[in-house]
Amino acid sequence: LLTVESVYKEFPIKGNHPNLKVLKDINFSVETNEFVSIIGQSGAGKSTLLRSIAGLLTPTQGKIVFENKVISKPDANISMVFQHFALFPWLTVNQNIAFGLQSNRDLSPTQRDHRVANLVKMIGLSGYEQSYPRELSGGMKQRVGFARALATEPSLLLLDEPFSALDVVTSKQLANDLITIWLDNQIATKSIVMITHDIQQAVQLSDRIILLDTDPGRIAKIYQINVARQDRTIRNIIDIIEE
Ligand code: ATP
Ligand code: MG
Repeated sequence: LLTVESVYKEFPIKGNHPNLKVLKDINFSVETNEFVSIIGQSGAGKSTLLRSIAGLLTPTQGKIVFENKVISKPDANISMVFQHFALFPWLTVNQNIAFGLQSNRDLSPTQRDHRVANLVKMIGLSGYEQSYPRELSGGMKQRVGFARALATEPSLLLLDEPFSALDVVTSKQLANDLITIWLDNQIATKSIVMITHDIQQAVQLSDRIILLDTDPGRIAKIYQINVARQDRTIRNIIDIIEE
């Protein structure tokens, strides 16, 4: 579905300095039906990598190929969910979810309403349709974030620390709900790439985990997890990490 090929990313620094080299020779692929997590210290370049996949940043070198096309701008088939929700405060839950559908001329208003109503039910927002973000808890806000990202029926979903602003219990509930609707094929999304600092959650959810090294900004290791999801107990998780 996605290949990242020899990607380098540099940022200019003010003054007479050499560029900041953030990503160096990043290579990996994401297969259809795969859940891939990216872990690594703060500043390792995780968000830079995800934003490049989303088409929000252009690699300095190398290319990112999605559904057989080189990514050069945001693609309608890729959606992103952010750590701090990034909802529109002046729009209701329904309006936030429908936001990305406004420009879609293939959908009639009825079809659009129908899709939003389905998402509201699927993602556990029933009863909150007319609420504004300020009236919602963090967990509910992020449910809206997920519903909005899923509204365009993207085949690739990118998550940048989607649960890190939430308490442990809320985070687990939301992660469980997401993985359930995804594994049940209730959503069009084929593959998910998630940045997280929660290694336990990464092991619980992922098929593969990519460890980014802060210095020198390369992939340090890719862990393949072959244990069935339902068998990933705490004991197993320690074994998987230590392997
Ligand atoms: P965190 O876990 O804290 O979110 P991260 O792994 O997501 O960290 P990035 O946000 O990708 O890290 O940042 C990597 C490096 O690139 C940092 O040193 C950061 O300051 C720098 N950087 C990121 N975006 C830009 C930008 N637009 N311009 C200049 N430097 C940037
Ligand atoms: Mg980040």
